[in-house]
Amino acid sequence: MALKIYNTLSREKELFTPLTPDHVGMYVCGPTVYSDVHLGNCRTFISFDIIYRYLVYLGYKVRYVRNITDAGHLEGDRDEGDDKFSKLARLQKVEPMEIVQKYTVGFRHVMQLLNNLPPSIEPTATGHIAEQIEITKQILANGYAYEVNGTIYFDVEKYNKEQPYGILTNRKMEDLLEGTRELGGQDEKRGRLDFALWIKAKPEHLMQWPSPWGMGFPGWHIECSAMSEKYLGKKFDIHGGGMDLAATHHTNEIAQSQACYHTSPANFWMHTNMLTVNGTRMSKSLGNGFLPEELFTGNHPLLEKAYAPMTVRFFMLQTHYRSTLDFSNEALQASEKGLKRLWDAYELLQKFTANNEAPTDAELDAKVNRLVNEFDEFMNDDFNTAKVLGNMFELVPVINSIKDGLIQADAISATTVSLLQQKFKAYLEDVFGLKNSAANNDVLNGVMDLLIEIRKESKTKKDFATSDKIRNQLAAIGINLKDEKGGEMSWGVS
Ligand code: AMP
Ligand code: ZN
Repeated sequence: MALKIYNTLSREKELFTPLTPDHVGMYVCGPTVYSDVHLGNCRTFISFDIIYRYLVYLGYKVRYVRNITDAGHLEGDRDEGDDKFSKLARLQKVEPMEIVQKYTVGFRHVMQLLNNLPPSIEPTATGHIAEQIEITKQILANGYAYEVNGTIYFDVEKYNKEQPYGILTNRKMEDLLEGTRELGGQDEKRGRLDFALWIKAKPEHLMQWPSPWGMGFPGWHIECSAMSEKYLGKKFDIHGGGMDLAATHHTNEIAQSQACYHTSPANFWMHTNMLTVNGTRMSKSLGNGFLPEELFTGNHPLLEKAYAPMTVRFFMLQTHYRSTLDFSNEALQASEKGLKRLWDAYELLQKFTANNEAPTDAELDAKVNRLVNEFDEFMNDDFNTAKVLGNMFELVPVINSIKDGLIQADAISATTVSLLQQKFKAYLEDVFGLKNSAANNDVLNGVMDLLIEIRKESKTKKDFATSDKIRNQLAAIGINLKDEKGGEMSWGVS
């Protein structure tokens, strides 16, 4: 069965055929590094990591480009005011690049903890100013942009006369216009939907570069057009990002590429659905964002305990990437238990050897084969990780019955056993990127139980020197203890 991918552009699952046989070019919009990534951002990056890993599993040579937005993203995503980096830099009296460095390092650290593979190329907006100026020049030359006092705007109305601007989200100009405010008296734009490709910088603006139109800085959308073209070409296979990017950022990217190169940049547009808290999208501006660090340490008033990075990753995989996922203590606790069950079964499975080619239980043998073969089928159906995990859980009792002596070594054939072993390994480790993290390690769990016991005793005896020493020294090696209600303690790794 061949891979099918849901394409936002056609609103259908389409057969995936790469532009160049055996090669896939994939571009994903990366983080804006002016603050810590929250768990919602992590969901999107985990989803694309799984997609990347699965394409590699299928044998494709993938060039995965994920940018770092370190310039041009303005407050409130509008074309006026300060950019997010300069604003924070001014407040904190530091260089904008210090803000960028701090949050880029933090982002990479979180990605590593969550076991997301690094992309093939991670280009930055500030490293590609020349390319952004070039594409802006070309759009101007092609007649789809205009200059007002050193700022270059994209002319959406003119573009829309020739091709539908709202094609990605299937919306007409009239509907789009309804959703935007009227042009104010001060507005330099000709049309309400016009957006900036290049923005003239005020003298006090901290990040600015020379251009044919004077000192300025790039608009947000142009960086992705410039960098995707540079590393993947004018047309590539997959462009992705969170769903919230489709209506404006990606719509503008398509318009820019069409206006510059007369082609839509990507064959497939993929959008991940949102992580929500009580049904509301997790976002920095709404203040309902949980930081990965808060989860790994349990340091958040709404968290009952700390959760290991692999629990968080597993929690994300249990829902298809195009469905919303609601964040809660209960769901995370269920994931923690589920992952442990799966991992225990996996370890048991790897030790199992069957020596008979003719199974003594043909029905069981056929069932195991079917469940395992469906892994690829489900992933080929638009990367349905949730369904693969469903089958894995159905296989857990079969695997566990080996331990309980309920099935004999020859009940299923040696070929089936080795298929089971091979696919569990390939999926859990390579495709899903799960690791047997510390929280699932029995030896470490035992040691931690002992240390927690000693800490509780020393607290009862008011020997605070000992209890503090345990907490502080564990913290120094990245293990965080959290005091819970009723004198209980939990721990997590950061
Ligand atoms: P930003 O740093 O805000 O540009 O966001 C980085 C990525 O995270 C983008 O692809 C967003 O669409 C995505 N994103 C933002 N909020 C959420 C959320 N609550 N759930 C899933 N993805 C999100
Ligand atoms: Zn982008």
